[in-house]
Amino acid sequence: MSIIPYGRQYIDDDDVRAVVEALRSDYLTTGPRIDGFETSVREFCGAAHGVAVMNGTAALHAAMFALNIGPGDEVIVPPMTFAASANCVLYQGGAPVFCDVDPATLLIDPASAEARITERTKAIIGVDYAGQPCDWPRLREIADRHGLALVADGCHALGATLDGRPVGGLADMTVFSFHPVKHVTTGEGGMVVTDDAGLAARLRLFRNHGITTDARTRDTAGAWFYEMTELGYNYRMTDIQAALGESQMRKLPGFLRRRREIAAVYDERFAGTAVRPLKVRSGAVHAYHLYVVRLDGRDEVYRKLREAGIHAQVHYIPVHLHPYYRERLGTGEGLCPAAEAAYREILSLPMFPALTDENLDYVIRTLLEVA
Ligand SMILES: *Cc1c(COP(=O)(O)O)cnc(C)c1O
Repeated sequence: MSIIPYGRQYIDDDDVRAVVEALRSDYLTTGPRIDGFETSVREFCGAAHGVAVMNGTAALHAAMFALNIGPGDEVIVPPMTFAASANCVLYQGGAPVFCDVDPATLLIDPASAEARITERTKAIIGVDYAGQPCDWPRLREIADRHGLALVADGCHALGATLDGRPVGGLADMTVFSFHPVKHVTTGEGGMVVTDDAGLAARLRLFRNHGITTDARTRDTAGAWFYEMTELGYNYRMTDIQAALGESQMRKLPGFLRRRREIAAVYDERFAGTAVRPLKVRSGAVHAYHLYVVRLDGRDEVYRKLREAGIHAQVHYIPVHLHPYYRERLGTGEGLCPAAEAAYREILSLPMFPALTDENLDYVIRTLLEVA
């Protein structure tokens, strides 16, 4: 029996052709395909600027740089996320401060975020967990009142909307990842989208060593001169990756349709059973990077599913419980009770566009037997 993972990429012949064309073109990196991919993503989510980088973690790091986060600064972040959402603050020498999540959705709890604001707080990072948008209007109101920036970790939520507004335009900057399990893939890849030209300029500087121009711009201008004005990194994406990304973006509407179709089947079959899906907020159109349920005896269920060839996953160990954070920041149990309670019960079920109806039915039947 073949294994059913919780997520995986979908690559077809168009994608392969696009990559081969990029390989035969003049630019393997920093070429026109970067502009093309950035345009396809920023237009999809209605943002003015898109800055492609080598992965979602680099995009988060770049966002922290663009906001001038440094030693002495605090950034509020929920723990129900991948560690990179908090690590990016540490990369810049700042301190992540964990706040709790709403138990029904596992999205950042705005009241808990506000309660953890100090005079050192500079920003709030909201994570659009599983693929539904946070309560961004409420977060905006809090951020405005305290003079804070808002960053969306939208790595789960490309294609989601809130009250008709797409993820990508709900915070000051929104970060996407193009890892193979995400909605569209470039192998490894990431992007920050923003409406703010000043932030976009700093993001571009940061991905290219803090140097004021890139090689293609100099080439076109016939000028050798460049200067480094900030300490940046080489976080550039290749044109090979961007070509794949642009090709994948054309399939995104279909990918989203299939993910929502799968979610609707799960919802219907789990109604009134011991398998409890997370709540979807009113006004939210979910992008379903993950389909997360809560159940009693999660570890036992996980094991039985695995024996049946179904590789579910747990998203996530709350970040403040990782040994590194316990040791470095002294965090531990009791800091974010709702996230900690959810952690014992959550399981991410198979959710990817190529999941067949047959396999979907098998997953549901097996789960209802063992839950
Ligand atoms: C995938 C992911 C990231 C990191 O993205 P990479 O491209 O793997 O570096 C960050 N935050 C969240 C919530 C993610 O799911």
